[in-house]
Amino acid sequence: MNRFAILAKKIVTPETIIPQGVVLVEDKRILEAGPPDRVRFEEREFPILHAERQTLVPGFIDVHIHGGGGRDIMEGTREAIEVISGILAKHGTTAYLATTVTASPIATIQAVERLGKLMEEGTEGAQIVGLHLEGPFISEKKRGVHPPEHIRKPSTRIFDELLKMSNHQVKLITLAPEIEGSLEFIENARSKGVLVSMGHSNATFEEAMRAINAGVSHATHTFNAMRDFNHREPGILGAVLADQGVWAEIIADGVHVDPVAVNILLKCKGVKKILLITDAISATEMPDGQYQLGSLTVQVTKGVCRVPEGQLAGSTLTQDRALQNMMRWTGLPLEEAVYMATQNPAQAVGIDKHKGSVQPGYDADLVLLEDDLRVHATLREGQIIYQNTK
Ligand SMILES: [Zn+2]
Repeated sequence: MNRFAILAKKIVTPETIIPQGVVLVEDKRILEAGPPDRVRFEEREFPILHAERQTLVPGFIDVHIHGGGGRDIMEGTREAIEVISGILAKHGTTAYLATTVTASPIATIQAVERLGKLMEEGTEGAQIVGLHLEGPFISEKKRGVHPPEHIRKPSTRIFDELLKMSNHQVKLITLAPEIEGSLEFIENARSKGVLVSMGHSNATFEEAMRAINAGVSHATHTFNAMRDFNHREPGILGAVLADQGVWAEIIADGVHVDPVAVNILLKCKGVKKILLITDAISATEMPDGQYQLGSLTVQVTKGVCRVPEGQLAGSTLTQDRALQNMMRWTGLPLEEAVYMATQNPAQAVGIDKHKGSVQPGYDADLVLLEDDLRVHATLREGQIIYQNTK
């Protein structure tokens, strides 16, 4: 049986902080976690993984990611997914929602069908824990770079078909709640256990609040592809900032959102309602050049992704960097900032009974961080999926 003990400089569970903590792993799960005088073990049974110089935190969870290493989630092949999952592992991400973009019905159906199958078979590296459909039910006015010819009015029929083809693996869908038919759509999605995020939206404050009351629980890349805030018409952004319940995704790469806006978000939402996402595309961990995002060609210069018309088209961000940026811009200590990459996303997508925390019975999805927050090693379900050997 796969059994070992990790001795860490510190464990951030993140509800508690355990100096010189011990974690016992058995098979895929955490057996025990605590201070050395409470967690007793025989070295014969639990060989030691030494991490006395590293901080142990739960594996990062990304609810919005499109690709990496030159590969795109829309490809949906095992080869593409394992390249992406391998790159995520290098940056501490152990679980993610494979995120589609607005595309032709055929391309979308093919992607979700392939991804649903792969999830059932299992893949190496970071684990796909569900699908996030970004579109096609978004606003033409706030589509960003999503291709206009494939944008649709909210359709329960199309959604039900996608859900079925994905083998019921869709966990989250981004839609513009001001578009006709949205409220029925939200109700239907919620009744099937799918969470709804508002985004790529020109909704007024009132429209956004109506959507929240109808069951919308998330906001997609807050600030980006949203109607601007105005003090007389606060818009969807005002609703995201003012509502206490909505989970707010943020792309903390320093390009999509100014650090000042990130601080405003933190002041409004608090540390327990923000989700550090990457919105990363295939260009992540690759040299500058031309890359694909769904059917789009994206030019990447100094790691910034734009279409020829100039709009941003995803990012090359990784969650370790998002965490570092967040801490640098807000002054939050690791112990607090880490919620935004671990327990918050786990709660937001309903997997917090087994992921997002270092506790007995939870999946042994763990990250060992150096003092400078570089990733030293990443474990998924008790297996080392990345180790920095430098
Ligand atoms: Zn996206």
